[in-house]
Amino acid sequence: MDIFLYNTLARKKEKFKPINDGAVGIYVCGPTVYNYAHIGNMRTYIFEDTLRRIFKYLGYKINYVMNVTDVGHLVSDADDGDDKMEMSAQKEGKSASEIAEFYSKAFFRDFSDLNCIMPDIISKATEHIPDMIKLIERIEKNGFTYKISDGIYFDASKFKNYGQLAGKKHMNGIKAGARVEFNSEKKNPSDFALWKLSPKDKKRQMEWSSPWGKGFPGWHIECSAMSMKYLGETFDIHCGGIDHVAVHHTNEIAQAEAATGKSFVNYWLHAEFLVGCENDKMAKSAGNFITVNTLREKNIDPLSYRYFCYSAQYKKQLEFSWEALKASEKTLINLRESISRIKKEIAFDETKKPNKEAPYYERFLKAISDNLNIPQALSVLWEVFRDNSILPQEKLSFIYDADKIFGLDLFKECSPIILEDEIMEKIRERENARKMKDFKKSDEIRQELLERGIALEDTPSCTQWKKL
Ligand code: AMP
Ligand code: ZN
Repeated sequence: MDIFLYNTLARKKEKFKPINDGAVGIYVCGPTVYNYAHIGNMRTYIFEDTLRRIFKYLGYKINYVMNVTDVGHLVSDADDGDDKMEMSAQKEGKSASEIAEFYSKAFFRDFSDLNCIMPDIISKATEHIPDMIKLIERIEKNGFTYKISDGIYFDASKFKNYGQLAGKKHMNGIKAGARVEFNSEKKNPSDFALWKLSPKDKKRQMEWSSPWGKGFPGWHIECSAMSMKYLGETFDIHCGGIDHVAVHHTNEIAQAEAATGKSFVNYWLHAEFLVGCENDKMAKSAGNFITVNTLREKNIDPLSYRYFCYSAQYKKQLEFSWEALKASEKTLINLRESISRIKKEIAFDETKKPNKEAPYYERFLKAISDNLNIPQALSVLWEVFRDNSILPQEKLSFIYDADKIFGLDLFKECSPIILEDEIMEKIRERENARKMKDFKKSDEIRQELLERGIALEDTPSCTQWKKL
């Protein structure tokens, strides 16, 4: 079964050819753990997880690596400004490692609540400083670096194919970069720091000795060093959000290839942004954003958000709205409820395999292998679900199998039918009261709903309800 992926480097869809037959190495840029991840970030992680699930479904052996940036990501892409981690530590009155631990934990909770499969390797930047130093030494030995007062820099003009990943967009990036103030000692606006020296007038919490002096690594070198350590000097797939094309990934390529003389990554995949109501980038640094925790507080199953993400293919921007998310929630709950009903009616046997000869199965495979056309794959699922000519056992076998890719927990038991908005709001309010151990309020709401003909039942994992 061939998989076609849009490769940013080639600017077209290409048939995927693994380096080693039947195996795939995937590196995804992970979170900078100075704050919570927002649902825009999570759209990218869901896309990457779906990619992983497709390879798994098709029988590939996977090595999935994700970094955690816990040092070196500066506020400005021009290598100026503070380190996001140190800034956050100062703001919250904690140590940088406390900040990293707290936000990493929060991130992986969101990640798993969205049914993203844990990476095979999670690599923390601070645990790989010697690897980064070694890589910078190789780049230096090959003549691509120079030293200025605040660090060791990569000379982009010496790297022949610099900016190839971003193409024209990158040229705009350079012009934009040239307009803003940039370190005047740099030779070219696109040169970037490999190793930053600790400032003389300020004590940093995180700094390490190096052949160039005490300091810390640049953000880009972290990803090159860690990806090559775990996946080899040339590996299959590197993913990230579209914002990383012009600078972060462009620089990852330059430094990796300058060190090894080999091609770094065969397929570059980039997810488009989730945009807010103003069609603006949902920026973590703006401070005002929606997180998975916001969803949990509203008692919205994070998987409703995963379902919502499937309304657009990953190469298209997706506009967030609460109405659209609520509609996804409703659809998902109703689908689970129907599945649960049919399952009981027919005593569903989940060990039975779906009919792989069926035409809809072929259409499903075609959609998932066509650059992750998940909206199309989901429409095949609905088609099967609504088709009365397909036997219920076969229908559920197909959906059970397909959910290995969607990751929507479609066979989850707690899936009562969705009621009117106002009633759902009451149920959520009661759930919150229960969480806060406000049992008086929780009992009052239960009684009120009972009088309106809705009975609630609390199970260990969730609250179920039915109309009397
Ligand atoms: P960060 O923690 O800021 O480095 O971002 C983590 C991941 O989320 C990266 O792959 C970014 O490219 C991606 N990302 C950032 N903002 C958005 C957004 N609004 N929509 C989708 N992905 C995003
Ligand atoms: Zn990265």
